[in-house]
Amino acid sequence: MNYCNYCPGYCCYRLKGSVLLIDSDDINRLARYFSISDGEVRKRFMENKNTFKVKEDGSCILQSSNRMIKRCSVHTARPKQCRKFPYDDTCPYLEREDLLTAIQPRVERSLRDSWLKK
Ligand code: SF4
Ligand code: SF4
Repeated sequence: MNYCNYCPGYCCYRLKGSVLLIDSDDINRLARYFSISDGEVRKRFMENKNTFKVKEDGSCILQSSNRMIKRCSVHTARPKQCRKFPYDDTCPYLEREDLLTAIQPRVERSLRDSWLKK
C-alpha cells in the first residue's frame, strides 16, 4: 500500500526535527518552471538562503492549498530532497503514532470504499 495517497503530506510540513535544504540547482529548476529569474524564486518562495517559506499551518508555501488533495503544486520541478524522500526506506513520519492516527481514518475509508466497489 502506498500511504502517500492517504497522507496529508506531512513531509511537506515543517515538523519538529525536519529540514528541507534547497540548493542552487533546485532554485534554477523552479525558475525555469515559472519562467522567472533565480532571484525572483528566492524572493517569492525562500525564507532564507536554503529553505522555503511556510504558511501559517507550517506547510511549505508550494503545497497546494486545496484541502482535499494537499499535493505539491510544482511536482515536476520539486527540489531533489523532495524527490528522494523517504530515501527507499519506510517513511519516518509513519512511525509517529500521532501522525499515523491522523491519517488512519482516511486509509480505512478508502479501503472500505474500494471493497464496496468490488
Ligand atoms: S512520504 Fe511520508 S509524510 Fe510524505 S506523503 Fe508519503 S507517507 Fe506522507
Ligand atoms: S516543494 Fe513540493 S514536495 Fe517539496 S516540500 Fe514543498 S510542497 Fe512538498
